[in-house]
Amino acid sequence: MNYRVLGRTGLRVSTLSFGGAPLGSAYGPTTQEQSTAAVHAALDAGINFFDTAPYYGATTAETALGHALAGVPRDQFILATKVGRYGLDQFDFSAARVTASVDESLARLQCEHLDLIQVHDLEFGRLDQIVNETLPALDALRASGKVRFVGITGLPLRALTVAHSFWPADTVLSYCHYCLHDTTLAAAAPAWRERKSGVINASPLAMGLLSDAGPPDWHPAPAALRDACYAAAGFCRAQGRSLAELALQFALADSPADTTLVGMRTAAEVALNVAAAAAAPDRGFIATLQQRLAPVRNRTWPSGLPENN
Ligand code: NAD
Repeated sequence: MNYRVLGRTGLRVSTLSFGGAPLGSAYGPTTQEQSTAAVHAALDAGINFFDTAPYYGATTAETALGHALAGVPRDQFILATKVGRYGLDQFDFSAARVTASVDESLARLQCEHLDLIQVHDLEFGRLDQIVNETLPALDALRASGKVRFVGITGLPLRALTVAHSFWPADTVLSYCHYCLHDTTLAAAAPAWRERKSGVINASPLAMGLLSDAGPPDWHPAPAALRDACYAAAGFCRAQGRSLAELALQFALADSPADTTLVGMRTAAEVALNVAAAAAAPDRGFIATLQQRLAPVRNRTWPSGLPENN
């Protein structure tokens, strides 16, 4: 496993890291047994960075991750969770709510401190509130020892960049913007890095778009993007190749981020992804796939308040 320093946090994170959304059954039903096996397979392979959120599975993902990590020495994993998003349309970025939220997450995750607390999908809030109220409230929790570092997350790169220009958080998590068909994170990340923020690239499989099984029903991608990815999966299948494997190799090869968060539901997926990360990427085949996906290059979807897109 390779490791990189996550910006000014100084945390040494595995470049392939564990996304916890599937533990809340976001990608199909899962059991505690499966989740525990996936988490331990990841730890055994040297993955040390785990991300979750109260939103995932309406808190069930945090509870499952807490169970899976119980008994593992606390210095062997780096734990990130979020505040502010609690349901599809349920947001509360107030200082009081996010402060209480940290305590609730600590209880579910069965630990005394979080390495990283992140504002979840900040584009759903007013950026002036995020910068003047939410982030200062989280920053104040450092003194209590409950959180070590504070980050921001979201989909529209513009909103992340605007918020970051006022409050250069310790980390910035972007998703679905550094994968086979969308590489827009590469242009946004240098400004964040310049102010020593760690960069996290989430969803290299574009939340299932770039996989054989395809995306879940809730996926917000427009039809043209879904269709193009579906066709790319079929093309890979016909050649005896795995679109997910190639997509992950692309995301890791020249990543503009310090770590790439992949959602992993089972120990088998962890094994596939660890092997994919260790192998040399097939750059020729990847270029062919990118050509096929060119008509939907950098195609995304709106997220959050209109002024934040
Ligand atoms: P992803 O792109 O990582 O894809 C996850 C899907 O791919 C799941 O269905 C998983 O079972 C499947 N998968 C994983 N490995 C596979 C393989 N080898 N072959 C086939 N299928 C495979 O999407 P994600 O899980 O949504 O994103 C990664 C993580 O990043 C999340 O779990 C979460 O921790 C984080 N994230 C954060 C935000 C945010 O903060 N706003 C947004 C998106 C994601």
